Amino acid sequence: MFDLVGIGMTSRRTRERMIDRLKQQGIKNPLVLEAMRATPRHIFVEEALSSRAYEDTALPIGYGQTISQPYIVAKMTELLIESGVPDKVLEIGTGSGYQTAILSHIAPRIFSVERILPLQQQAKERIQALKMRNISFKYSDGGWGWPEYGPYNGILVAAAPAEIPHALLEQMADGAVMLIPVGGDRLQSLQRVVRKGNEFEVELIENVSFVPFLSGRGQ
Ligand code: SAH
Repeated sequence: MFDLVGIGMTSRRTRERMIDRLKQQGIKNPLVLEAMRATPRHIFVEEALSSRAYEDTALPIGYGQTISQPYIVAKMTELLIESGVPDKVLEIGTGSGYQTAILSHIAPRIFSVERILPLQQQAKERIQALKMRNISFKYSDGGWGWPEYGPYNGILVAAAPAEIPHALLEQMADGAVMLIPVGGDRLQSLQRVVRKGNEFEVELIENVSFVPFLSGRGQ
């Protein structure tokens, strides 16, 4: 069903060029580069777009959503693990499942929440085809986090709220790191939040453009 090896524009060589580009863009962590090298991004987009899968752009995945740009996926992952690999990661906004697969290469347990059911189902099929078994999926509004398995040492949010949802702050373990875009519809600032006891230190990383964080379940 999935072309896991890839031919032509989706081949290993094309992927290697993406890795070279990420290095030029400043991505250094070998765990991140290896995860991006090992993950076939072309199976996370529709077949008609697979020849563009290794370009450094976001691409449509249906339902008004996009698969994140490779640079942003790499950058957020690198910032998440900078002070050590978290053993439990909560991801909000599974989307295509590409970022989920990258995290699953690096961290022992991934919990991923998505509010659009068909996107979650497709992501699950891809993850199964790649035989990744350390991921749990939940169909829900990620504004509630996933309290049953919390607290988490790492949280990565792939959609932009106007403000950080409280439940996510509450589900951070002491010392945990969260990467989250915060702001308006088109432009947001990527923030890294580190929990120290009951204090939350916020660092602004760079301007980014994510789809909005919506409340409630979608279709
Ligand atoms: N990392 C994903 C990004 C997908 S786009 C990828 O590369 O494919 C962001 C995703 O967040 C969308 O699928 C959208 O449906 C989802 N999303 C937005 N608000 C959400 C919320 N409140 N809870 C869960 N998922 C949400």
